Amino acid sequence: MKVTEYFEKAAGNTLISFEVLPPLKGGSMEAIFNTLDPLMEFKPPFIDVTYHREDFEYKKNEKSGHYEKIAIRKRPGTVGICASIMHRYGVDAVPHLICGGFTKEDTENALIDLNFLKIDNVLALRGDARRFDGKFVPEKDGHKYALTLVEQIKSMNNGTYLDKNIKNGAKTDFCIGIAGYPEKHFESPSLSVDLDFTKQKIEAGADYIVTQMFFDNSKYFEYVDACRQIGIDVPIVPGLKPLTKKYQINSIPRRFFISMPDALTKELLKAKDNAAVKEIGIEWCIQQSKELKARSVPCLHYYTMGDSDTIRRIVEAVY
Ligand code: FAD
Repeated sequence: MKVTEYFEKAAGNTLISFEVLPPLKGGSMEAIFNTLDPLMEFKPPFIDVTYHREDFEYKKNEKSGHYEKIAIRKRPGTVGICASIMHRYGVDAVPHLICGGFTKEDTENALIDLNFLKIDNVLALRGDARRFDGKFVPEKDGHKYALTLVEQIKSMNNGTYLDKNIKNGAKTDFCIGIAGYPEKHFESPSLSVDLDFTKQKIEAGADYIVTQMFFDNSKYFEYVDACRQIGIDVPIVPGLKPLTKKYQINSIPRRFFISMPDALTKELLKAKDNAAVKEIGIEWCIQQSKELKARSVPCLHYYTMGDSDTIRRIVEAVY
């Protein structure tokens, strides 16, 4: 079933969903099941699985002694994990599909696989720049922005494939999610410019938005208002992540270009160790979740980061 159909069926009741990361290469599906098993009693209708392309590392060549730049894909397996989740739990899995590393042909073939696996939903994203690339570099015949990726998925929903010799191609029926940034995407000169591009993705056929994490609910509410004002009327799902480690006070703003409210930061700075940070992070996320639920958001979407204990405590307190 489509993500948006779940929202319609819920008729204003806030659903709950989770995002998981593929395990590091060499790991097993047990890592995913160990994260999800304790969370399934909360009946998430869908679970997102992130996509991770290859990245560069410098490794010393033992013979020459020189360092060589090599590409390594550390977290493969998104599609297999989706199939495995659907098989084990009977819920929908939402694979993240990115532009980076994919030609349009690769994208088409990936979508055919997803369709054959009866995966009805995808989250269409551009992906970030690889380390040492400096800026996002698309494949020679790949998508530069998520906008054209959405257009390609929509074309397949209409039975149009890249190969123009294909007449009456099978129509896929993907529900398409996209990313949204309450504090704007870091490359964008302003929130309103970013929103104009978001609107283009909706007009191209995207069905719903999942937001970047935020720690101040007013950022989300203002973002939703700004979207509605320019005619973006699709469901906007808040993405939530509890803080559990002291270093995240700096690493999360640096990595995700988001701010932290003073009240939260002051509490975190006073915390004597990570155990204390985790308690503050959990309590903060519970309060965020309760307020969002009271405002009937379509869904609370938790970034699990493999930490089911923390997420369980939050969801138990909210539902
Ligand atoms: P785009 O929509 O292409 O936007 C990128 C930038 O270009 C923005 O600044 C935008 O304003 C601008 N822009 C957009 N369209 C145009 C246009 N037509 N012309 C000019 N400028 C334009 N990354 C992964 O690698 N794997 C994941 O699994 C993953 N999951 C994510 C899940 C969520 C909920 C979120 C919020 C992000 C996720 N990301 C993931 C990160 C995402 O790939 C990055 O944030 C990336 O930098 C931008 O992706 P996007 O789809 O928003 O890009």
